[in-house]
Amino acid sequence: SDHQLEYPKSPNEMNWTKLYPGFVDPNDPTKLLSKVTIADIGCGYGGLLVDLAPHFPHDLILGMEIRVQVTNYVEDRIIALRSKDPNGKKYQNIGVLRGNAMKFTPNFFEKGQLTKIFFCFPDPHFKQRKHKARIVTKTLLSEYAYVLKEGGIIYTITDVLDLHEWMVKHLQEHPLFARLDAEWENEDLCVSIMRNATEEGKKVERNKGDKYIACFKRLPNPEII
Ligand code: SAM
Repeated sequence: SDHQLEYPKSPNEMNWTKLYPGFVDPNDPTKLLSKVTIADIGCGYGGLLVDLAPHFPHDLILGMEIRVQVTNYVEDRIIALRSKDPNGKKYQNIGVLRGNAMKFTPNFFEKGQLTKIFFCFPDPHFKQRKHKARIVTKTLLSEYAYVLKEGGIIYTITDVLDLHEWMVKHLQEHPLFARLDAEWENEDLCVSIMRNATEEGKKVERNKGDKYIACFKRLPNPEII
């Protein structure tokens, strides 16, 4: 449960060097040359991280996953992929962290640090009384808005229509997000990757299920008059 999870008191106190050894600052081995800019929340077995990696070689991509064994699997998967590259360069930009994304997101990321946040096939929590456990809620959206930079994107995909409508409703009601249209979705590289990269997405594909997508842009903070 949560109290066994470790959280840094602030993003500065987080040691990222173990996650991204290829990006360690040669002048200061306790620091990285860049910061995480892309987050995959509830990354599961890591398919999205692996498929995004070659397209964003200069971005650090982080998967956050609450299940210990799944996180360990993704860790091993990344290590194996890295070791297959004779030049030691590939897949250095992806990492996974065990954590509860519903808690302390701002402890890991600074204000405006992220450019993209993915929610791929989040747990639906069908029952009404479980809805508060959903990963997209009004309160959590304000946290995601805080760590996302202006113009940054929230990507969502699910096969559960009810959850899709829930996420769209909450994002639309939030003053800091605006939905992107179907034309934008069709042209965006990450949308096409997200459709098929994840293990859950592949399962839905095999079962010929529906995939509902919604993407939202982080709006500028309103001026305080
Ligand atoms: N995104 C992956 C995919 O599309 O294959 C996994 C989808 S799976 C249905 C949902 C994942 O979210 C599970 O691996 C679960 O452990 C993880 N998860 C659920 N709640 C979480 C939370 N609060 N923080 C981090 N991960 C969470």
